[in-house]
Amino acid sequence: MVSKVQTEDLPLGILEVGFSYNTHQDAAATDEKSDNPSQSHMEDGQVNQSTGDTGTMSGTAPGSVPTQTDSLSKQFKDIMDLTRGSFSQVKKAMKKEEEKVYAIKVIPLLNYNKEHLLREVKALAHLEYKFIVRYYTFWWGESVVSRLGDSEEDDSTSDSMEINRNSCVSDKKPEFSLFIQMEFCEMGSLKNWIQNRMTETSKSSNRRQSLLLFKQIISGVKYIHRKGFIHRDLKPGNILLAKNMTVKIGDFGCVTRENGDQPQMRTQNVGTTSYRAPEQEGDRYGCEVDIFPLGLILFELLWKFGSEMEKSKKWNNIRDGDLPAEFEKDYPTEAFQIKKMLSLDANMRPSAKNLMQIFCGRK
Ligand code: ATP
Ligand code: MG
Repeated sequence: MVSKVQTEDLPLGILEVGFSYNTHQDAAATDEKSDNPSQSHMEDGQVNQSTGDTGTMSGTAPGSVPTQTDSLSKQFKDIMDLTRGSFSQVKKAMKKEEEKVYAIKVIPLLNYNKEHLLREVKALAHLEYKFIVRYYTFWWGESVVSRLGDSEEDDSTSDSMEINRNSCVSDKKPEFSLFIQMEFCEMGSLKNWIQNRMTETSKSSNRRQSLLLFKQIISGVKYIHRKGFIHRDLKPGNILLAKNMTVKIGDFGCVTRENGDQPQMRTQNVGTTSYRAPEQEGDRYGCEVDIFPLGLILFELLWKFGSEMEKSKKWNNIRDGDLPAEFEKDYPTEAFQIKKMLSLDANMRPSAKNLMQIFCGRK
């Protein structure tokens, strides 16, 4: 069974230390989210499996060798751990000279190659849009990572319940890592927002606000597709919220290029199981894989699950387009569109452009 780590519940354990050119080639825990590096050449031309390629520091001024302080704490202060993802840790830090707060994602290289990790940077650098998280810069450096243990529990259906490795072994081993500096989204992730809403007493969601968020999300996805990318891991945890509840699509760690109209050979099993389009388990798919999770996200925005347990029980039905009768009654138009987005046949799903027309009345 593929596995996923619940980010928020894990101990935080990445500390920046001095830069070195060593790379640790420990086997990275395989995870449903990531492409298998051994397969990544299928679509990305990343045949080079050498993780020993650490002699250069892209993103750092030539001749400068970052030390511990150069890596993060020399330039940043008030460094705080925000969350720990399956493969990365995200920090909040203030750039000293600017007095401005940023989010910094630290991703250990492990047994991936640099190109593989850099695709998040490459995509972010080409995506400048109000509903996409803003990227500033990147650099390579060393970080000390609490490594995940191997004890696994079974997978379940919802993102927040994909807790398969709940032990975290902190061996504080320095790992050569990628640091990505981006805008700090102060209202957290949509996942947190949805979870917090579960604890509210009112039974119904705020329809207007939910639709407003959804419109921003589809606008962002339309932009991503227009720029020739497929996100491949859309889910509430990867949708961030900035000031005034502005949506910022983030986490481009699974992004790929859309080349042409035909579904092409792709890496299998990329993305997060519970939100992943069914065809993503195979190796031929196109940008429609980003529409399937939008159906689930719209449902979650409009429907308040009472608890994570309830969500877990009903999730497979929702994925199958079997929506609660009450939902169909309250949101007939949205229910119809959600079912289309969840079509097993990817060609039956509306495009992001269609969704903009449907939900925003514009092209
Ligand atoms: P996962 O494997 O859980 O998807 P990840 O390793 O891919 O995580 P991200 O999804 O990029 O990492 O970030 C994990 C979490 O960190 C987000 O869900 C969010 O809570 C927080 N986060 C990420 N980027 C930002 C940001 N720019 N501003 C504020 N919080 C952020
Ligand atoms: Mg993520």
